[in-house]
Amino acid sequence: MCNRLMIIAKVTHRCNLRCSYCYLRDHDGPSMSLDTLDQVAQLGAAQALHRVTFLWHGGEPLAMGLDFYRAALLATRSCHQPSSLRHYLQTNGTLITPEVASFLADNHFKVGLSIDGPMHDSCRRTVSNEGSVAAVKRGIGYLHDAGVRFGVLAVLQPNNPIDIQSFYTFMNDLGAQTVKVQPLYGLRCPPSWPSQFRDMINTLLEMWIHDSTCATEWEPFVSIAKSFVTGGNTGCMFRRTCLGGEFLSVDPRGDVYLCGRLEGGSAPQIGSVAENLAVLRSRALCYHRERDCAIADQCGACRYYRYCFGGCAAEGFFLSGGLTQKTPFCDAYHDVFSRLEAVTEEIRGRMA
Ligand code: SF4
Ligand code: SF4
Repeated sequence: MCNRLMIIAKVTHRCNLRCSYCYLRDHDGPSMSLDTLDQVAQLGAAQALHRVTFLWHGGEPLAMGLDFYRAALLATRSCHQPSSLRHYLQTNGTLITPEVASFLADNHFKVGLSIDGPMHDSCRRTVSNEGSVAAVKRGIGYLHDAGVRFGVLAVLQPNNPIDIQSFYTFMNDLGAQTVKVQPLYGLRCPPSWPSQFRDMINTLLEMWIHDSTCATEWEPFVSIAKSFVTGGNTGCMFRRTCLGGEFLSVDPRGDVYLCGRLEGGSAPQIGSVAENLAVLRSRALCYHRERDCAIADQCGACRYYRYCFGGCAAEGFFLSGGLTQKTPFCDAYHDVFSRLEAVTEEIRGRMA
């Protein structure tokens, strides 16, 4: 059994924003009880795992208040070796205060914030329909003051005309350690979206490659370049075993899903947090094996198969309704793999 586990704990569906592309429909919906939190903390406790990462997620996870996270730290430390534990927080950033930032710094949380560049306010609006970018930037300021290192995540969208140069500059100026870009996916996207995204990501990649002053790690570019150097995969998007139980997502009620992006709607629920990790993983493995065979058929002849493995399963799922479909952004990622392979070969050649 894999000795690493990432638990994506969706602690609440409540949120103070109403983003136009949010997949949640019940923003006043359930929050995790302290009993369920204890069960989340106990997942894998009997297995003596080498690394257990809790990714606190939502809705907006900071809507739970700091006392919830004080309880989470106590519960997880009582179930796992402190040296094996990592805590991540994925937040919209608007509820970060100086007190929250100090708490995150003191407890060594890795923080990810969602911010969509210059067009942020057109889609990430508050309950009272106001833009939220000023509140996110204020939160980022508090993180900087407290010395918290953070990454930012931007969702690129169809029919949302952005000036890529302004977007690139905006994201770099936030002072984040990493910038990750992801395409919006799902049935609401027009058929032309994969090719629009392909143009956007190729343009961003060229900007990043030619920007010798950029200290920010852009994703997925850095992960892909690393995979050419190490032969392995980092992150979950291009990992062969992503559905195999290394990542599990728990919703506020304690229902367990294969990953944080595969929750709700028609996504398969694989069990309950009250169950044993080995049992949950054995169910997850069935989905992994089925996908692995199907992706070998679709992608086996691709030059980048062993680095990509058909891409993110959730991107294919929300178009096809099944977990056996490669990502609809195949052409875009094929371009990125090809360009970064050439760049890493050139660097290798220079060092030889
Ligand atoms: S911040 Fe996240 S949970 Fe809240 S509305 Fe936006 S996408 Fe949904
Ligand atoms: S680039 Fe496309 S064809 Fe190649 S492995 Fe990835 S999804 Fe499959």
